[in-house]
Amino acid sequence: MYIRDTIAAVSTPPGNGGIGIIRVSGDQAAAVGNTIFKPVYDGGLVSHRFSFGTICDAISGEHVDEAMAVYMRAPRSYTREDVLELHCHGGWLVVERVLALVLSCGVRLADPGEFTRRAFLNGRIDLTQAEAVMDIIASKSEAALQLAQKQREGVLSKRLDDVRGCLIRALALVEAYIDFPDDDLGETDVAAITVSVEEAGNIISGLLLTFEEGRIMRDGVSVLIVGKPNAGKSSLLNRLLNENRAIVTHIPGTTRDIIEETVTFDGLSVRLLDTAGIRHTDDLVELEGISRALEKIPLADLVLAVFDASREFSFEDRLILDALANSKTVAVLNKSDLPERFVLPDKNSFVATVRIAALSGDGIDQLKKIVRTQFLHSSAPDAREFVALSKARHRDALVSAEQAMQRFADGLRDRNLELLSLDLRDALQAVGSVTGQTATDEVLDLIFSSFCIGK
Ligand code: GDP
Repeated sequence: MYIRDTIAAVSTPPGNGGIGIIRVSGDQAAAVGNTIFKPVYDGGLVSHRFSFGTICDAISGEHVDEAMAVYMRAPRSYTREDVLELHCHGGWLVVERVLALVLSCGVRLADPGEFTRRAFLNGRIDLTQAEAVMDIIASKSEAALQLAQKQREGVLSKRLDDVRGCLIRALALVEAYIDFPDDDLGETDVAAITVSVEEAGNIISGLLLTFEEGRIMRDGVSVLIVGKPNAGKSSLLNRLLNENRAIVTHIPGTTRDIIEETVTFDGLSVRLLDTAGIRHTDDLVELEGISRALEKIPLADLVLAVFDASREFSFEDRLILDALANSKTVAVLNKSDLPERFVLPDKNSFVATVRIAALSGDGIDQLKKIVRTQFLHSSAPDAREFVALSKARHRDALVSAEQAMQRFADGLRDRNLELLSLDLRDALQAVGSVTGQTATDEVLDLIFSSFCIGK
């Protein structure tokens, strides 16, 4: 439901900053500006022009702050409604006072994401673009940001519009026959319908193939560092983090818990988990650390198995290999500055092997590259038309569209036309739920409630 009242919220983050922005959207926006903002120069608020002045309490006449105000008349605004932004000093107290003044003009505090929701409801952006706004704000890596920007530009929407176009063409042909129950679908029409549905199916299956990579670009990956005590796991973590986060010592067994840090490798967000050294021990605390390390193995997207290459392959190294039997693992042969005495058993299933010296940093760049290429291969996010699905919501909807289209194709020659048309309508419904044409209020509530207030 869309009630066209006027809403307001602070759009800058909480806390103290240089500038604080209070945003107002709705029919009362200009009236609010004229009530509490006094421009220094005559002429009042002119659409899309900044003016300098003071924010005053209309009743007491008190000057609350010096500010810049910009009024954007509908439809040329973020929400396509009249919008007023007041840019005042960024202290939390002054921002709260300005907001209170705005609300005292009879304006309601906005719900989370309500400005963006109005932009969607007023047709300025579709649902995938609204979700992209959220992703832009939450981006933790270059890859995530580039992907979100493409989605905001409407690259995914365009593909889905193409799918809808194909499905609607096929539906029109099928439904043209429904009024003539004695006629079978003509061969030319069957051919035209098949071409349209196949074209839609190709776009969808192409998009579904991008999901894994899109998810990784958006959310990053988790990389677990395992190895026996003293192999150099903490030194490797420090090297990857470029700081002394983990304690490095020559006494085996000092990393007793899991240490977690996020870094980026050439645009990819990587959550690094350093674990306790894996070996036989009677120390209870260390045992707990080791069992936590083993538990994490199946959850990691990639494991870096660190071996001390200056020593011979040992019993503990064997324990590690066994624990990693089903994981995607890179073998990291550390201490390459010392004479190599380590030989990996012939039978292993590492996706790559790399020699490094964690202390000097030798081989670290190559290791980062190996990690990155395990996940991001085909991506060219700077390409103009780059698109990748990154949300389970989108993937699930497109899978149901694909299933409905499959039902349609399987029954095209012998099923009842009404059922065929229902299959196409199901597919259209599923695609429309991604872009928002057919999304329910519950879905919209769920999506926009995860936004911040003021967005
Ligand atoms: P962890 O127990 O696996 O976390 O191992 P640490 O990172 O604490 O390192 C154990 C010992 O190996 C320390 O004395 C490090 O200085 C040493 N070490 C780590 N990496 C290298 C390396 O590349 N070359 C050499 N020579 N020593 C290293």
